[in-house]
Amino acid sequence: MTTPLAFVHAPPVQRVVFGAGSLERLPAELEGMGLRRVLVLSTPGQRALGERVLAEIGAQGAGLHAEARMHVPVALAEAATARAAERGADAVLAVGGGSAIGLGKAVALSSGLPVVALPTTYSGSENTTIWGLTRDGAKSTGRDARVLPRLVVYDPLLTLDLPPGVSAVSGLNAIAHAVEVLYAPDGTPVTALMAEEGIRALAAALPRILAAPRDPAARAEALMGAWLCGTVLGQATMGLHHKLCHALGGGFDLPHAETHAVILPHAAAFNAPAAPEAMARIARALGAPDAAGGLWTLARRLGVPSSLAALGLRAADLPRAVALATASPYANPRPVTEAGVAALLARALHGEPPV
Ligand code: NAD
Repeated sequence: MTTPLAFVHAPPVQRVVFGAGSLERLPAELEGMGLRRVLVLSTPGQRALGERVLAEIGAQGAGLHAEARMHVPVALAEAATARAAERGADAVLAVGGGSAIGLGKAVALSSGLPVVALPTTYSGSENTTIWGLTRDGAKSTGRDARVLPRLVVYDPLLTLDLPPGVSAVSGLNAIAHAVEVLYAPDGTPVTALMAEEGIRALAAALPRILAAPRDPAARAEALMGAWLCGTVLGQATMGLHHKLCHALGGGFDLPHAETHAVILPHAAAFNAPAAPEAMARIARALGAPDAAGGLWTLARRLGVPSSLAALGLRAADLPRAVALATASPYANPRPVTEAGVAALLARALHGEPPV
């Protein structure tokens, strides 16, 4: 993308509190927003973290609802909304990754309650107005200003136990947002700066996290990078990469962050000829000679899965995957063709390097 000569920059209003130990600031932050009865949401796996947050906010808490699941099944969203009403909650507070935050957004969508987020992965969902709901195996998504968390508290100390493997794929998921922002039709000079710095921070921090998962400085740098990447995700239109991951996740139930990690170098290679400025920025952020090669090398260094086959996709699934990913037109710097997507997915299926 060439730097746009005309643009609209309209960042949504969101209060962000960042820093080691910032969990302790939560009661004062809630009070500042006039919130008195907050229902804490988490996945069952992060129940202990939810309890810790509930203990921290004391009388401001309306209980813990530890029922969040990946991709927000409608029945779970309805149950959480009912629980919030039953407890007289005036907000929901999602602690954890995109699954918990997604549940918070679903409650906001149906009830209008404000969302507060304490993110502990790098998904970036906390910075977007995008919601998702799954009904009978089909995921629908949309944008609604009501679901954007009004307050996001980033405490890197809450991420020290995020397993290194999850950190790696989640970090590559975040980098994918920034990569696509750099060639988005509605990117701005500001989103480009944030995207490049987000990639740089995550690419620097993730190898350090793999070497020392409880290093607070590396965790802080990664979380800061995730904030930048998530923020620009919320402000620009995604292209081929996100479309492919959505098709593979929705159509074949492949795991979200892992799928991003596998597809990203291939999507960058596909778009490279049509987006030289974006690729130059990505390469610079990675300290690599070229963007796609740099993303591939980073992913191998982080030890994430290299093939869609390793995630459960079969060669026989490819035609349907191509059909899903090309069913409707969308913005992308290089025209998306069935043949182009088929070749890309075939390489990704077998874990071949990007070309
Ligand atoms: P997730 O929330 O399921 O978390 C991934 C894993 O990390 C889980 O196993 C969880 O138990 C673990 N984990 C989380 N916090 C932890 C902690 N503090 N310590 C130890 N382990 C911890 O998944 P995710 O990758 O964060 O998010 C994926 C979901 O978010 C998908 O449903 C995706 O569609 C959605 N998403 C939405 C948006 C959006 O803008 N709406 C953006 C990105 C992702």
